[in-house]
Amino acid sequence: MEDAAFARKEESMEQYARVIVDISLEKLDKTFTYRVPEQLLGHLEPGMQVEIPFGKGNRLLTGYVLELTEEAAFDRDKIKQLRGLSQKGVQIESQLIRLAAWLRRTYGCTMNQALKTVLPVKRQVEEKRRRQVRLLLSLEEAKKQLKELERKSQSARFRVLAALLDEPCRDYGELTRVCQVPAQVIQKMEEMGILKVEQETVVRRTIPQELPKFLQIPLNEQQRRITEEIVAGFEAGDSRPCLIHGVTGSGKTEIYLELIAHILGQGREAILLIPEIALTYQTVRRFCQRFGDQVAVLHSKLSQGERHDQFEMARKGRIKVMLGPRSALFAPFSHLGLIIIDEEHENSYKSENTPRYHARETAVYRAGLTGAHVVLGSATPSLESYYRASRGEYRLFSMKERVKRRPLPQVTVADMREELRMGNRSMFSQALRKGMEGCLIRGEQMMLFLNRRGFAGFVSCRTCGHVIKCPHCDVSLTLHRDGRMICHYCGHEEPQVKRCPACGSGYVGAFRAGTQQMEEAVSREFPGIRILRMDADTTRTRDSYERILKSFSQGEADVLLGTQMIVKGHDFPNVTLVGALAADLSLHASDYRAAERTFQLLTQAAGRAGRGEKPGQVVIQTYSPEHYSVAAAARQDYQGFYQQELLYRKLMGYPPAWELLAVYMSGPVENALSVGAAALRAAADALNQDGQLQIIGPADGMIAKVQDQYRKVLYIKGEQEKRLLACRERLEEAAQAECFASLHIQFDKNPMNGF
Ligand code: ADP
Ligand code: ZN
Ligand code: ZN
Repeated sequence: MEDAAFARKEESMEQYARVIVDISLEKLDKTFTYRVPEQLLGHLEPGMQVEIPFGKGNRLLTGYVLELTEEAAFDRDKIKQLRGLSQKGVQIESQLIRLAAWLRRTYGCTMNQALKTVLPVKRQVEEKRRRQVRLLLSLEEAKKQLKELERKSQSARFRVLAALLDEPCRDYGELTRVCQVPAQVIQKMEEMGILKVEQETVVRRTIPQELPKFLQIPLNEQQRRITEEIVAGFEAGDSRPCLIHGVTGSGKTEIYLELIAHILGQGREAILLIPEIALTYQTVRRFCQRFGDQVAVLHSKLSQGERHDQFEMARKGRIKVMLGPRSALFAPFSHLGLIIIDEEHENSYKSENTPRYHARETAVYRAGLTGAHVVLGSATPSLESYYRASRGEYRLFSMKERVKRRPLPQVTVADMREELRMGNRSMFSQALRKGMEGCLIRGEQMMLFLNRRGFAGFVSCRTCGHVIKCPHCDVSLTLHRDGRMICHYCGHEEPQVKRCPACGSGYVGAFRAGTQQMEEAVSREFPGIRILRMDADTTRTRDSYERILKSFSQGEADVLLGTQMIVKGHDFPNVTLVGALAADLSLHASDYRAAERTFQLLTQAAGRAGRGEKPGQVVIQTYSPEHYSVAAAARQDYQGFYQQELLYRKLMGYPPAWELLAVYMSGPVENALSVGAAALRAAADALNQDGQLQIIGPADGMIAKVQDQYRKVLYIKGEQEKRLLACRERLEEAAQAECFASLHIQFDKNPMNGF
């Protein structure tokens, strides 16, 4: 009965398709609506190619379906019917549109936002023939020539050559401007064979030129076994993602190289995602050495035109390997065979703009469209990935040994409460100070890392280490200027405490510290020590990371100190000491991932020590040595940490045990925001008749007001992803109502970065 009724409804149903003829960013708004013919009802999906009658003469064109709706946007009688499916075969565009449709469904956004995410940015300087000046001399010759020009006092030519020595290929206009020379000078130098002016549209490559020859490192036993097992799974048709859990320094990169080589050997392409911060010359060079011209690199400092060029090379099959952060995931390869995500636990794999997609989930979906494989690697896998692996949804591979059986570093935990009791009020524990002295005497290097992740002025006791937490959410309260302590999950607040509720000490307050204070303290206590500092302030310009890291690796400083950005994936053989200062800061960030982040940061930081021949030592300074994330990091015990943390997530209903949906609301008028937020909460409650969901908030955002926009967050927890997605869709519809007009509403599935 029911089936028959359903079928009748289906029959009488009308469906309309929004079709685009040319998918490129400029044309996204040029879409056309067509009626779906009866025989195709229920068979069309976004991304499919269809034939449409176009214009007055009803010329047949091919287009792509973007969206399907049941309501016509305008007069039904004027809508033409689309002709049928196109037989042109699957195009990369179809795939990208399907991917966009999935992003929209999964993370919540408009189809246009989703398309803009997957399409490469528009080429701004397109077809404008750029003129470039390229140095033709070798380094040696150029230096000789430079001396010669100096001797002859030909200062205009001297300036040009010096500039080209800095950067062998430069924009014509820029070069003449910077060097302040007329066109004749360039012309003359071209006649002399020093340089060449290139007129054609040049594809801008972003890989380092002139690489030393590739040194093939023979895989060790552990690397070979894992590579073989992974490949065997590929060949056997196992489509599950692979997770490589390998301790720091176990040589995961070489496995990635082998896997990519295998895929290229099959005539397919590969994408390798790396956190931006680790995308330094060191890593990039390794891949370029192995795969040469087949590699393209993306990073955030590229111009839009340069990005576009990299994507175009992928589309045309001129490159086979795309290296880059999150967005490299959308490289338009037609025969994609492999996506590798290195340091898969990294926060930067989660987009902070709508759609707030996670690169891992998106990679798995994209791979599924083309039968590609996904390989994840980390020394500290995200709870999500390890959870999936432990349930058999991912294949798990463990590397417990460092390369050449080098020992993991020796870890000491310094209890800062104890230090205070013994009268040590400095920034350094006795253990760290001793380590630093030894390191300096032996002429070795050290890294000091100030954990500032999620640092937001939590309140703690310096006598006993107690941290004031929300009684409802088990995250730390944040101290605001007006003296209230606030929970950013549920909005609970209380006045600032004057005495520690645990031990009665008056030594309680908001914890604040910075890298600059740290630098001052180090040079005060170790006069003459050579320091490099790496934090947001010292890395503003295009090449600053590179410069600092290079300088450190060449032994130009004794200490590299900085925020979490110094702990990511770098390989400095002469570093034998790592100090983690204020290891607790991230522990008390007011979100449910605080312990995980702390464990990851400490383990990764420790992993920087003793990577060369000399053994390493690590000192973790903390007010909470007993916290399981600190203790497990000190033991380098991933399993121990994972078990504890999973228990907490299960108990509190946080991911990966449950799914979490955050609704971010912002608006210029505080009162309107409060009213809107309450209305949205009511809408969510209405969707929760069966009580299967947990709805929390609304509470103020982590930063309650940004650029005159007030911010509130609502959290919804549910055991089933499907249920939460359905709930989000209904809320999206509800959010169209009048009372939300002044508000900006965004959704975040399993948030990682807070709001
Ligand atoms: P991970 O990413 O697992 O921390 P890396 O891939 O950076 O480790 O490798 C750590 C170091 O060991 C690198 O300097 C690398 O060149 C070296 N290495 C990797 N595999 C081998 C090998 N089979 N033999 C010798 N050295 C190796
Ligand atoms: Zn106390
Ligand atoms: Zn709370």
